[in-house]
Formats: sequence, C-alpha cells, structure tokens
Amino acid sequence: MNRVIWRDGAFIDWGEATVHVLSQSLQRGSLAFDYIGIYRTPRGPAVFRLDDHVDRLLRTCAVMDLPLAYPREQLIDAAMETARRNPGARSLRISVLNTSIDLDLAAQDPSTTVFIAAFDFAKDIAAHNPGTPHHAPLLRLSIERGKRSRREDTIPPQAKVAASYTPSIPAKQRARREGYDDIILLDEADNVTEAPTANLFAVADGRLLTAPGHKVLLGITRDTVLQIARGLGIACEERDFGVDTLLTASEVFLTGTSVGVWPVIEIDGHRYGNGAVGPVTERLQTQLRAVQHGEDARFEHWLRRI
Ligand code: PMP
Repeated sequence: MNRVIWRDGAFIDWGEATVHVLSQSLQRGSLAFDYIGIYRTPRGPAVFRLDDHVDRLLRTCAVMDLPLAYPREQLIDAAMETARRNPGARSLRISVLNTSIDLDLAAQDPSTTVFIAAFDFAKDIAAHNPGTPHHAPLLRLSIERGKRSRREDTIPPQAKVAASYTPSIPAKQRARREGYDDIILLDEADNVTEAPTANLFAVADGRLLTAPGHKVLLGITRDTVLQIARGLGIACEERDFGVDTLLTASEVFLTGTSVGVWPVIEIDGHRYGNGAVGPVTERLQTQLRAVQHGEDARFEHWLRRI
C-alpha cells in the first residue's frame, strides 16, 4: 500500500507505523485518538470540522494526563498535510500513545508519540481483511442491560480513549451473534446514553431527544445535527430519558463521523415506522450530507479544503 503516515513530524510508510507489543498504551488501554471525515465537495475534497476534532483530542489527552508534544495549530497543519499526501483518503485518524515499555501504570517515561493516518476504509483496510465488513444501512439494535458501562466516575465519556471501548467489545460481539447490528449503552440509572461508537437520538412528540453532554462522547456529528435541527425549527432537548421513552419514540437514529445520520428500524424486536426511514431522520440525513459536502454556504467555515 502506498499510504504514508505522519509520525512525530516525519512521514513513514503505512507498514512502518508499528509499536512494540509491550508498549504502555497497548498494554494499558491509554491510547487517545480522534477520527475525522474527509468529503468530496464541489471545490475539491475537504476535512470536516478538523479544529473541533483536534480540540476534542486535546481534551482527551488532558483527561488521560497524556503529555502532548505538539500545539493545536501544529496538529491541524500535520493532519492537513497527511490528507494532502494521501489522495483519495476519506478519513483521518490521529492517535496519541505512550510507546514506552514499562510495567508501572505511572510510566517512567510518560511521553507520547503521535501518528496521523489518512485512508479510505473500504479500499485500504476492509479490502485487505478476511471476509466482508458488516454492512447495515438500516440498524437493528439491542439494549445492553448486563452492564451499565457509561459511568462518569470511571473514564469520563467525553474522553476518546481506547479503554472506554473495551467493555463494549464482548457485548457487541454477543449482539452480532444474536443478529443485531449494534448495542445501546445505559448509565447506572438505566438512562439511554449512546452506542459504543455513535451518539443516539430519538424523535418523541416531534422533538429531538439526545442524552446530556456529560453522559456521552461529545460527537461532532451530534453537535452538527443539533445545529441543523435547530435551524430547521425542530425543538431539541439534551436530557436524560429512559428505555420507555426510547421504545415509544416515533424515530430513532445514530450519529457519527463514519455513518452520518444512521436510521434505526428496530430495538430488541420493537419496530419503528414499519421498518422505513422516518421523515425527521431522512431530513436530517439529507441536510447533514449537504453540509459535509459543501452544499450549504451557512456551514462553509467547517470545511478545510485539502
Ligand atoms: N460516541 C462515541 C463513544 C464514539 O466513539 C463516537 C465516534 N467518534 C461518537 C459518539 C460519534 O462522534 P463523532 O460524531 O464525532 O464521530
């Protein structure tokens, strides 16, 4: 593969971007990362809300006490240069990790290495893996009731760190074996929070509901959809709500960089809208695509042309 990856200021080949098996972040789950979309627009490919993604990465590093050797502007420039050097890439992934070998949780060498990769997931990654990637344009979800993994007193949900995803791995694998596409995470009071890698919205009585910001990862798509919805005159509420509200909602969808607005047609056997995409979901999906693809002048400031 001819992709190149930025590592601490220099470009290296894709296959060279490796760490030792005993490295601190791999062994302890402290890797901080962020994932950013690149979209085709009439004026060429553009990176969407890069500044906001980098700010979120800086917050994750602060929460995890990971020292970062590069200031914000340098990371933004490095990400843009990585996008430029990898034509056809559809996303960027910035990873910050401690590659030192140490058995102590408080590593003797706490310094981090930054890697920035730019790729097309389907062509550069999925095509080289065995089997076919899971694909579901309309989602069937299962509520994870066994463990309430969205807890503010462990890893704050606002930190995009590898360890936050660990409890969801066996839960999601189990759900897949049972025929579902993904799971919904609850907090300790049984409120609906988000999916493991996407935020969740419900449409109830014509209003858009989503969990409050301190309970979830502050998704850039979540914020984009809230701004678009408010612009369309749709009332939005960021508040706690339970499974009952979710199951009596007229529409449910997930949001995330990799999927945009992703319609949910079933949760634990309960069907929404006869399995068709709901009207609010469809409207927001269309508007989001227009914003990401540079077709809405009001949000042009969110796009950095490569
Ligand atoms: N929640 C979690 C836990 C996530 O990992 C993601 C994916 N980054 C999201 C929500 C969606 O965030 P974004 O819209 O910024 O991709």
